[in-house]
Amino acid sequence: MERFLLRTLGDNMLDLIYAKDEQGRFIYANLALVNMTGAESADSILGKTDFDLNPPAAAQAYSDDDQLVMRSGQPLVGREELLTNFKTGESRWHSTTKVPLRDDNGEIIGIIGITRDITQIKQAEFNARDLNAELENRVAERTAELSAISATLEQERNLMRTLVDAVPDSIFAKDLNSKFLLANEAVARGMGTTPENLIGKDDFDFFPQEMAQNFFDDEQTIVRTGEGLVNREELAVNKETGNMRWFLTTKLPVRNDKGETVALVGIGRDITLRRRAERAMRESEERFRSLIELSSDWYWEQDADLQFTDIEDPNNKSSYTRDEVLGKSLKELPGTALLSESWIEYDDHVAERKPFRDLELRRVADNGKTYFISLTGLPAFDEDGNFRGYRGIGRDISDRKRSEQHIHFLATHDSLTSLPNRFMFSQILNLAIESAHRYHRKLAVFFIDLDRFKNINDTLGHEAGDFLLCEMAARLKQCLRASDVVGRLGGDEFVVMLPEPENAEQIATVAQKILSASLEPMDINGQECRVTASIGICVYPDDGRDEQTLMKNADIAMYRAKEEGKNNYQFYSPDIEARSLERLVLENNLRMALERNEFFLHYQAKRNLQTGEIAGVEALVRWQHPELGIISPAQFIPLAEETGLIVLIGRWVLKTACAQNVAWLKQGLPPLCMAVNLSVRQFFDEHLIQDVADALNESGMQPALLEMEITEGMVMQDAERAIRILTAIKALGVRLAIDDFGVGYSSLAQIKRFPIDTLKVDSSFIRDIPQNREDRAITEAIIAMGRTLSLTVIAEGVETKEQEAFLRDHNCDQSQGYYFSKPISPEDFVSFMKKQAACTIVYPPVTSPE
Ligand code: C2E
Ligand code: MG
Ligand code: MG
Repeated sequence: MERFLLRTLGDNMLDLIYAKDEQGRFIYANLALVNMTGAESADSILGKTDFDLNPPAAAQAYSDDDQLVMRSGQPLVGREELLTNFKTGESRWHSTTKVPLRDDNGEIIGIIGITRDITQIKQAEFNARDLNAELENRVAERTAELSAISATLEQERNLMRTLVDAVPDSIFAKDLNSKFLLANEAVARGMGTTPENLIGKDDFDFFPQEMAQNFFDDEQTIVRTGEGLVNREELAVNKETGNMRWFLTTKLPVRNDKGETVALVGIGRDITLRRRAERAMRESEERFRSLIELSSDWYWEQDADLQFTDIEDPNNKSSYTRDEVLGKSLKELPGTALLSESWIEYDDHVAERKPFRDLELRRVADNGKTYFISLTGLPAFDEDGNFRGYRGIGRDISDRKRSEQHIHFLATHDSLTSLPNRFMFSQILNLAIESAHRYHRKLAVFFIDLDRFKNINDTLGHEAGDFLLCEMAARLKQCLRASDVVGRLGGDEFVVMLPEPENAEQIATVAQKILSASLEPMDINGQECRVTASIGICVYPDDGRDEQTLMKNADIAMYRAKEEGKNNYQFYSPDIEARSLERLVLENNLRMALERNEFFLHYQAKRNLQTGEIAGVEALVRWQHPELGIISPAQFIPLAEETGLIVLIGRWVLKTACAQNVAWLKQGLPPLCMAVNLSVRQFFDEHLIQDVADALNESGMQPALLEMEITEGMVMQDAERAIRILTAIKALGVRLAIDDFGVGYSSLAQIKRFPIDTLKVDSSFIRDIPQNREDRAITEAIIAMGRTLSLTVIAEGVETKEQEAFLRDHNCDQSQGYYFSKPISPEDFVSFMKKQAACTIVYPPVTSPE
C-alpha cells in the first residue's frame, strides 16, 4: 500500500523528487525528474549519478551540494538555479532543497532532494517585490520542518514520510469514504491541527459545510468513476480561523494490482501567493492603465532591436498614430528630429542598456503642426537577464518648449522692436570679436542715439514714441547688410555692428546712410515728425579690443556727436574721452549743485527791431561746477529732466529771475520784460501755478513783466490739459511764449488754439539767412502768420547784421542773439543797459487772458 502511495504521489508531483545514496547514485526519481532529464523511465536513471545525466559543470555543482549536505548533516535550502528541460529545451527557474537521508541508526546514507519550479514565484518577485518577505517566511518554515523530520526516518517507509512531509504541498490519502488515512504536515497546518489528529477524520470537521460537501462529492465521483481530478483551483477556508487560501488540487485514485480503486491521494499546492501576485499585477496594470488615461503621458515599448512594439496613448497625446510608430525605431519616426545636436549620447546609453531620461524630440506632423516630445525609457530584461528592449513614457512638452523658446526670445530680444537686446548683442559682439581676432579683421560698432526722442515721447505720448522706435528699427535694418547686426540697448539707443568693414570710408558711408534714413519724415498720429540721430563709431582693434571698451568708446563718440550739434556721426578718438568723463561727473554732482548754490543766471537782451530799444531779457541758467567750470544748460538740463531735478532747479530759476527783475527796478533800471524757460516736467508739475504765483508774490514783481517760454511739443501731447495750464498761467497775468518755434510738430493753425502772446522763431531757420532760400521763406511765413494772429514774433540766434536787416525788413518784432548781446551776468547787464543810455523801454502789448 505504501509503495503504491509513494509512486502515485511522487509521480503526480510537479516538483522533481529524488534520492541518492552516498556515492551520488539515484535510488529514487519521480516522473517529473525523469521528464526533465529526458530519460525514458525512472529505471533508466536509478543507479546513475549526476555525471551520467548532466553536463560536467552542473553535475559537479550538484555533487558538491550533496557532499555538503551529507558532511554537515544540515539541509541545504532554496538553492535557486536556471534548469533546462531536456525534453522541451525550455529554461526555468527552480529552487532546490536537499536534506540528509539517514538509516535507522541515524547514520547518513544519502540525500533526498526536491526541486521546485519557481518561475512563477520569480515573476511575482519581479513584479511585486513586497511579496518577498512572505516567500522568505515560507523558506524558513520549510527549513524548520525538514530538519525536524530528517532525524526520525526508517529506510523505505521513512523515505516516503520524509518526502511527504518535506514537500511544502499538501499531501494526503483518504479511504473510499473520504476519511483521512494519512496527511502531511502541510495539510495539518492548513487545517490547524496535527497529522496524527487528522487520521480518521474528514473535511466536514474542518471546512464550512458547503465547501466540505463539494470536496466530498468530488472524491466520491473519483471513487465511482476511477478518474482523477487534475489541477483544480480551489478555495479552502478554515472553519475556525476563517483563514482563506487557494490551492491547485489534484486528486487521484490509488489502485491495487488488480486495478481496483482502494484509496485516494490528493496533492494540493498552495497558490495563494501566485493568485495574490496575479491579482496585484492585474491591479497594478489597471492602475497603470488609468494613470496613462488620466495623464498627458503615453506609454511605449520597444523590442531588443529598439523597434516600437506597443504604444498606449488613449488620449492621443503623442501626435503619432499607431501605424506611424509600430515597427520603427526612434530615429525612423516620421517628421521627427532630435532637439539636441547629436544622437551620440542616446546611442551610448542604449548600447550600455542604460535608462535614458527626457530625450527631447521635435516632430512636424503632416498637418504642419510642430510638437515637442520628451521620452524617458528604461531597459527591460527577462528572468535570465537577457535584454528585451526598452519601455517608457512619452510626454508632450510643446507648451513648455514654446514658452522656453518664448522666454529665450524675450531674454535675448527687445520686446518692442524684436531686435536683439543688450544681452544678445553682447553675445554676438563677443563672437564677432573672437572671429575678427582670429582672422586679423576689423569690426565697427555704432552707438546710435535719437536726438529729441525724449521730447517726442514726453509730448506725443509713449505710443507715439514706441511707434517711432519700431519705425527706426525697421529703417536701420534696411540700411544694413544681412551680416550686419542691429540691436536695441533700451530707450532710444541702438547699436550696430559691422563685421569686416573694408575701410573708414565704407564705415562712414553706412553711418551717413543711417543719418539720412532717420531724417525721413514719419507720420505719427497724423503729425509729421522728424528725428535725427547721433552716431558714435568705434573700430576694433584700433579703439578697443574687448566688448566693454568698444561699447564704452562708441558711447563716448556718440556723446561727441551730440555735442557737435546732433544729426552727425563721430569716430572715437582718445581726446574726446576726457569730455565724456565730464558727463559722468555731472550726473553725480547735479543733485548736490542746488544745495551748494552752484546755479546762477545769465540774461540775454532782446531788441525791438523797429525802435532799436531793449525789449526784454531772457533768463538762462548756468551751472558753476567746482572742477569743470561753467556748464551750459544744453548739457545738464536733459540730465535734470531725466532725474526730475528740473522741477527744483526750475523753481529756483523762476524765483531768482523774478527777484532780479525787482532788484534792477530798485537799482533804477526801467521795468523790463523777463522771459523764463519752462521744461516739460515743470510744465506738467502740479505745483507749477503755485510756484509762479509764489515767485511773483515773494518778489513783488508785476505779473505782466513775466513771460514763460514753453516749446510747442510740450503743448501738443495733451492739448486739452495744456490749454488748462496755459489758461491758469495767463490768469495770473503772465505772458506766454512758444520757444524754438518751427522745429516741432505743430502747425501755425494749431497754435491758434493756445492762449499765447509770443512766437520765438528757432535759431536754425535764422542761421543760414540770408543765403538759404528755404529758410528765408519759412521765416517770412512764420512772421506773417504770427502777425495775423497778433503775436509778437521774436527771432532767436541772430548773429549778423544781415540777419537782423532781413528780419527788420520783414517786420519781425524783435531779435535776440549774439549780434545784439550774449547772455551776461546781472552786473554786466546793468552796464549794458546803461550803455544803451537813451533807451526808452517799449512794453510789449499784453494780451488779456481769454
Ligand atoms: P533757448 O531757450 O532757445 O535759449 C537760447 C539759447 O541760444 C541759449 O543757449 C543762448 O545762449 C543761445 N543763443 C542766444 N543767441 C545766440 C546766437 O546768436 N548764436 C548761438 N549760437 N546761440 C545763441 P543756452 O543758454 O545754452 O540755453 C540752451 C537752452 O537751454 C535754452 O534754449 C533753453 O531751452 C534751455 N534753458 C536755458 N536756461 C533754462 C532754464 O532756466 N530752464 C529751462 N527749463 N531751460 C533752460
Ligand atoms: Mg528760451
Ligand atoms: Mg530757443
